[in-house]
Amino acid sequence: MYKAPLKELRFAIHQLIGDERLVGLSDLPDYSTEFADAVLDEAARFAEGVLDPINRIGDRTGAKWTAEGVRMPAEFKAAYAKFVEGGWTQLRAEAEFGGQGAPTLLGTAVEELWASSNLAFKLCPMLTQGAVEAINQCGSQAQKEKYLPKMISGEWTGTMNLTEPQAGSDLAAIRTRAVKEGDHYRLYGQKIFITYGDHDYTSNIIHMVLGRVEGAPAGVRGISLFIVPKVLVNDDGSLGKPNDVRCVSIEHKLGIHGSPTCVLSYGDKEGAVAYLVGEENRGLEYMFIMMNAARLSVGLEGYALAERAYQQALEYSRTRVQGKPKTKNVPDGSKVPPIAYHPDVKRMLLTQKAYTDAARAVALYAAMQLDLGKHLPDGDEKAKAQARGELLIPIVKGWSTELGVSMASLGVQVHGGMGFIEETGAAQILRDSRIAPIYEGTTGIQAGDLVGRKVGRDNGAAMNALIADMQAELEKISSSDAGVAASKAAALEGVAALKDATAAVLKDPEGALAVCVPYLMLGGVVVGGWLTAKAHELAVRQASTDPDFFAAKQQISRFYAANLLPEAQTLSRVVKQGAASILDADPAKL
Ligand SMILES: Cc1cc2nc3c(=O)[nH]c(=O)nc-3n(C[C@H](O)[C@H](O)[C@H](O)COP(=O)(O)OP(=O)(O)OC[C@H]3O[C@@H](n4cnc5c(N)ncnc54)[C@H](O)[C@@H]3O)c2cc1C
Repeated sequence: MYKAPLKELRFAIHQLIGDERLVGLSDLPDYSTEFADAVLDEAARFAEGVLDPINRIGDRTGAKWTAEGVRMPAEFKAAYAKFVEGGWTQLRAEAEFGGQGAPTLLGTAVEELWASSNLAFKLCPMLTQGAVEAINQCGSQAQKEKYLPKMISGEWTGTMNLTEPQAGSDLAAIRTRAVKEGDHYRLYGQKIFITYGDHDYTSNIIHMVLGRVEGAPAGVRGISLFIVPKVLVNDDGSLGKPNDVRCVSIEHKLGIHGSPTCVLSYGDKEGAVAYLVGEENRGLEYMFIMMNAARLSVGLEGYALAERAYQQALEYSRTRVQGKPKTKNVPDGSKVPPIAYHPDVKRMLLTQKAYTDAARAVALYAAMQLDLGKHLPDGDEKAKAQARGELLIPIVKGWSTELGVSMASLGVQVHGGMGFIEETGAAQILRDSRIAPIYEGTTGIQAGDLVGRKVGRDNGAAMNALIADMQAELEKISSSDAGVAASKAAALEGVAALKDATAAVLKDPEGALAVCVPYLMLGGVVVGGWLTAKAHELAVRQASTDPDFFAAKQQISRFYAANLLPEAQTLSRVVKQGAASILDADPAKL
């Protein structure tokens, strides 16, 4: 049974990241730490009481294709209705159209709970939120008024339609064709892998579709963004005729069975009615505006599933008995202690917990930077925060989602053979986690973005500013506690390794593309190490306020410094020396 890690989240948001900086900002008049706590409490109740109990049903029953449309499991439909009733679709949306305008920091914390308790369910509101942001930032006033209130209230949902069979990572290859017809366009083409492209939760679905207006330039410069409602919307807001878009099939896949992954066919008959968003040929630019939010939302799925896997592994290992552990801290008594006391099982549990907490801290820090970048008054601080948030997004997406898979795999390992058997649920977490490093840009695409657009384009300015700030903050930590001193020293070594690797990436941009994934992982390990060292120092300082919680935090931080941060040295060496042996290789001769 999943338990929302509320204490961890409160510690991370209020103490480690310091959300008091958001309080009092003129754009966020309703935000307070008490408000955040109340929202988290309610979200925890919903995640534990409504979403977690149906997670297995989503996996076993799954979404079903019928000629009349996709049918969702009845329990998912009921949960969606409750989600809407609870106002959860409104949390992050702009207040002007019925949203609550909560900061990204709080939204990210809440979304973790949805993802941990039921990833397949979470994807529908996540995609709707992405579509809402696209219309809000790039659409006309009339489009906003027509679509946003109902999407934000949850009466309608939204999708993002980028992928086509020949256009996955390479969106330049998009072929979906748009033909102008008066005040709208007619769309023809096929989109694949569209999450919640059809379902029976709501009466309408608003598809955001990338296509190419006839005669547009080739490549990414000729892509436009369209609104294509499943059912046309009359000027008075009522529903009109069904549009010419059809769900042809849904995919049978490794995980997230409760989330329908649809093949959508546009324009089989007269052409799907489509409304241009913004200007022609600027579609990809508009998509990129929302990419940070979407990538953060998928990034958090990694540590959310790592958290779920950890909780389950911990529970199992505290009851399963196998052999007598020969180690310290074994409880006295006549009973043989459970496997959790075997040193290697402890190592696995500590690894799960330490990576989960570090990846959460990095994501929440990135979310806070995006909030400051959006809500601070104009000036250097605002620009610096925005650049830092953007720099960290590929790291959050790539590092956290890859960790999600490896931590879910460790969860299976802790269970032994029972982990491989579906009935424990450990296998579902592993299967569900596998998608996160793929969709919304694969890890390779994130890493290419990191070394190219984020580090290369400003000649390392944003990364070196982060490195300098981490170093300065770590150097300021002064504690008589030996554990904190060790965390500080290990984190500083990590920062130095990242600095060296960044210089190497800037010196050899071609080579950087060969080692961009190790560089991205290095970024995650080191930024995570910096925040873990800060958490360690806070945990020592506040030990008396919650002795058990802060003792565990110190234990985890010691483990991160001694067992996980050393990886930074290896990764840095790979970034500096590894490119040639990759670039020389010829796949035809392997
Ligand atoms: C369950 C699921 C849900 C999805 N939901 C949606 C959705 O809602 N909307 C939507 O539009 N799409 C969706 N997708 C599509 C998803 O975003 C793509 O699958 C993803 O972007 C990768 O594209 P691809 O599958 O064509 O793989 P490819 O692009 O063929 O990639 C194959 C491999 O080549 C690597 N590669 C490709 N190009 C490069 C490069 N330039 N540099 C380095 N490495 C490279 C990749 O990293 C990967 O390892 C979904 C996919 C799945 C499976």
